[in-house]
Amino acid sequence: MSKRIVIIGAGLAGTTTARELNARGQAVTVIDPQAGETCERPPLSKHLFDGSRHHLPYHLESTEHITFVRDRAEEITLAEAAAESRYTAETQRHPHPLENHHATAGAIQLASGESIDFTHCILATGMEAIRPDVPAYPDALPVYDLADAEWILERVNNANRPLNVGVLGSGYLGMEVASSAVAAGHQATVYLRGDEPLRKQLSAPVRQALFDKHKAAGVEFVTHTSSPDDIPADVHDLFITSVGARPRLIPIDGHRPAHAWDVDESLATSHPGVFAAGDCAIVTAGPYALDHPWACEPVAESHGKFLAELLGEGAGEPSNKGENDSESASGSGPEGGPKVWSDVPWHWSFQGPEKVFTAGLTSPDADDTLIRHDPSGSKFQVFHFDGPDLESRLVGVETFNWPPMQAAARRVLGGNNIPTRAHLEDPDFDFKAHSRL
Ligand SMILES: Cc1cc2nc3c(=O)[nH]c(=O)nc-3n(C[C@H](O)[C@H](O)[C@H](O)COP(=O)(O)OP(=O)(O)OC[C@H]3O[C@@H](n4cnc5c(N)ncnc54)[C@H](O)[C@@H]3O)c2cc1C
Repeated sequence: MSKRIVIIGAGLAGTTTARELNARGQAVTVIDPQAGETCERPPLSKHLFDGSRHHLPYHLESTEHITFVRDRAEEITLAEAAAESRYTAETQRHPHPLENHHATAGAIQLASGESIDFTHCILATGMEAIRPDVPAYPDALPVYDLADAEWILERVNNANRPLNVGVLGSGYLGMEVASSAVAAGHQATVYLRGDEPLRKQLSAPVRQALFDKHKAAGVEFVTHTSSPDDIPADVHDLFITSVGARPRLIPIDGHRPAHAWDVDESLATSHPGVFAAGDCAIVTAGPYALDHPWACEPVAESHGKFLAELLGEGAGEPSNKGENDSESASGSGPEGGPKVWSDVPWHWSFQGPEKVFTAGLTSPDADDTLIRHDPSGSKFQVFHFDGPDLESRLVGVETFNWPPMQAAARRVLGGNNIPTRAHLEDPDFDFKAHSRL
């Protein structure tokens, strides 16, 4: 019997996996209430106010190899053999592989009452927004799903004057909404808990640069807002919340993890035959263990490509995983296929006219960073190292308003010529030329 690969979730990770498996001639079933009609999320927070396209469909279509099941997955039950070979505290990263790669590993229960058997299941269920109550604005809502965005858009389109927009939260999405509203001629006020935006996302020089740019553009900030109860009534025409999101997690044999699906370097969960990708997964082993930028498009897409290569037709059987871990650091398994997810993770955020990127491992708390910038100071890069001394190696780069240099950073971090702090401290060191070595 052949593999039965089932993907739960048709967002970016699930769609990418399905598309790539299809290209390899591997049959796959995609479960999502909106399968075939899902769209990108990033435009939702960037293009609500500027009249440009906020709705970019993924264009995944059912084919000879792709079957859509338009339903909600409720629970997974593992077959007996799979349940027995689940990781334990002792086996950890070396689970006992299933004897037969094509044996049913489990079944997915759907809301309709039906169930679907699988040999391999990919959890790609993404995240859902946290929806705090804002007493002064009972219809406040996050900009996370297309339905929320369409509701907001209708309000924006029906207004015949500039709106006064309130935003709770100063992470990427909140800043994108506020800065894009102001860029389109509306007023925007951001209510934040601390005293500066993007505190958990970006290092001090980058968040300060953004803070200054947004204030200069007219975004207002109300700092030290400790509770939504403190937000004044009758000020805003539209109120948007952006206080974070949490992974959507389907229980397996009745158990749901506390935060996200922990996956190893091959994106495998502790349950044989069950993998997780994109926003619902946190990678706990391999080069970016626990430290990778999370909940970002490039990582979800990269996870999808990785799993298609790992599981696709002709690829080495995943149950060899664990036996050759020590050979896998290069990203290639013994059959030449990838075993370790090792793409350089990166993130992008467009906030009105400002563009900010991260690549590799960057930390909002890093203080031994190095800044390189052009003479005008309007664009610059912040370099992060694995230590304080001159021989420490570059591990991550933040790039402010300089897209070609973000491309260079990704090339450098993904290549074999990683520069040291000593290189980057040299004013004559040409980072862009180095990226092409
Ligand atoms: C407004 C917004 C702006 C963003 N901007 C950026 C950006 O600028 N840069 C960036 O790098 N990243 C950005 N992101 C993050 C990026 O969109 C996500 O990282 C990416 O979409 C994650 O893909 P995913 O496939 O893991 O999850 P999702 O795209 O969220 O897809 C999950 C899918 O699973 C389905 N699903 C959930 N539960 C079930 C179930 N039980 N049964 C069946 N199906 C289910 C859902 O219907 C959904 O279609 C943004 C996110 C949002 C919300």
